[in-house]
Amino acid sequence: MKKLISFLAINLVLIMISNLSAQQLERKDVPDKYKWDNTILYKNVDEWQNDRESIEKQLDKLKQFKGKLGENADNLYSALRLYMDITKSYYKLADYAGRLSDEDLRIGANQSLNQQQTTLGTKFGEASAYINPEILNLDSEKVRKFFEEKKELNEFKFFVNDILRLREHTLNASEEQILASAGMITSTPADVYGIFTNAEKPNPKVKLSTGEDVELTSSSYGKYRTVQNRADRELVMKSFFENYDKYKNTIGSNFAGKIRGDYFYAKNRKYNTVLESALNANMIPTSVYDNLIDQIHKNLPTLYRFLKLKTKMLGVDQLHYYDLYTPLVKSVDFKFTIEEGQKLILDVLKPMGSEYVNTVKKEFTERWNDYMPTTGKRSGAYSSGAAYDYHPFILMNWTDDYESVSTLIHETGHTMHSYFSNKYQPFVDSQYPIFVAEIASTVNETLLNNYMVQHAKSDDEKLYLLGSYLDNLRTTIFRQTSFAEFELDLHKLIEKGEPLTGESISKVYYDNVKKYYGNDEGVCTVDPYVAYEWAFIPHFVNSTYYVYQYATSLIYATAFAEKILKEGQPAVDKYYNILKGGSSDYPIELIKKAGIDPLSSEAFDLTIAKMNKVMDQMEEILNKKK
Ligand SMILES: [Zn+2]
Repeated sequence: MKKLISFLAINLVLIMISNLSAQQLERKDVPDKYKWDNTILYKNVDEWQNDRESIEKQLDKLKQFKGKLGENADNLYSALRLYMDITKSYYKLADYAGRLSDEDLRIGANQSLNQQQTTLGTKFGEASAYINPEILNLDSEKVRKFFEEKKELNEFKFFVNDILRLREHTLNASEEQILASAGMITSTPADVYGIFTNAEKPNPKVKLSTGEDVELTSSSYGKYRTVQNRADRELVMKSFFENYDKYKNTIGSNFAGKIRGDYFYAKNRKYNTVLESALNANMIPTSVYDNLIDQIHKNLPTLYRFLKLKTKMLGVDQLHYYDLYTPLVKSVDFKFTIEEGQKLILDVLKPMGSEYVNTVKKEFTERWNDYMPTTGKRSGAYSSGAAYDYHPFILMNWTDDYESVSTLIHETGHTMHSYFSNKYQPFVDSQYPIFVAEIASTVNETLLNNYMVQHAKSDDEKLYLLGSYLDNLRTTIFRQTSFAEFELDLHKLIEKGEPLTGESISKVYYDNVKKYYGNDEGVCTVDPYVAYEWAFIPHFVNSTYYVYQYATSLIYATAFAEKILKEGQPAVDKYYNILKGGSSDYPIELIKKAGIDPLSSEAFDLTIAKMNKVMDQMEEILNKKK
């Protein structure tokens, strides 16, 4: 079930889009060509209900194999065959219910379908819970024999070996039960953090130079830290973080509890460190994490160059941390209808070759996507590739702007990844892991940005595109790597048995940010209150060693895009090892086959070279403007 759960989570990557127009269309008034056609899955709800009932019956059959997987090769094969067939049917069922309910969240009948789907999922989880532990209990010699005896079992080889790989980190049944029930305790810090910071912690209030009184919630902080008036943005950031200073010991000891919880699981599962345990789920070597930090350290001077450029463009003497979110140039008001957006995307994706472009054409003409914002529709955007024998679906809320185009090309990346993996892999190996998921989407976004720069109609347009591109690299690569390093530092302290307090956490965080932003080199002044920024970032208490993947995905994606633009079809052919690869191999191996070694400096070198090239272009325009 590990795979099942992670799969559903990956494919619903939500992007929130605000400011939908107040007057919304009703779904019935939208032309069919802008709506997805989910009748390919089921013609109507009756068909869906029939399928649900037949899955229920299959679950009874699945239960009959309980305790019998080790008896002979036939049993193992039949149980796995049935398990995968049910999983595939269940995904289709869940996909339909999810898509239907997202069309209009106000329709009770569709919500009830979704609830029935969730209930079925829970039953499925219970009925199949014995599979992993029973496979783990088989001895290696027996498994080898089974595979020799029954050739059909080969389809499940990677799946079975991936379970067996975790044997040394799996405990006996009663110990596993204790670990599982500990979840009720170890989930507390995340709950406490959410309740305290969202509901009980008082928010600071400030008066801006405009006379406006503002209460600084997380979202209004996000908005007001970008203002043009420098004194205002300093006031906003200073007040916001100094407020966290007041509660740092409470939030800090709660956070320390979370990290001790991480270590509790890792230690009991016989890992030396939490990092080893977290990365082992997808067989990512810890050296990938260390390499990320080392490479980014080595390349901090390139970030400094960008920060100096920012200093110049903002016209300030000394850049401060509170200046970082202010836009460098006025944003450009691009307008795109859906048809214009589609046409642009097809042009942008030409370097991906004809198989890719032709499939995207199908996506656009065969009603895979649902475009219009309508009353009651789910907000944001996602791609869902759960229905293995069909095609993926994309939910959009198109608002005629550049954001809409870049969201569509991003989701199209996920859709092509799902489509090709479903097409070229057996079901059991079709579901790609998170470590590679955002590569497919981000390569497309990078190609879009390149194209837009090349076809820009004015220097201002170009400056805007280049500037926002670099800001994205700064926040996604450098900022997330500094987070990753912070997480690592704190876990190391706990693993050494050292105490962790709000005070010591703040010191680790502050030293880290000062290093990344070149405080001591005079590049960007990081004022002392920035030490408490960690307390505002929910990821730290809600996830473990997760955010580094934002950085690695963008670095690999930038490198792949550079290779594709430079080398053409041969680079595309290699890149297909990811797109068509699903989970047929571990993510690191897929990335290697696609042409980049995650343990080398190549992807970093290409990304940094690209950053410098973009800065050259910006400086050229700025010099011309002078
Ligand atoms: Zn995504």
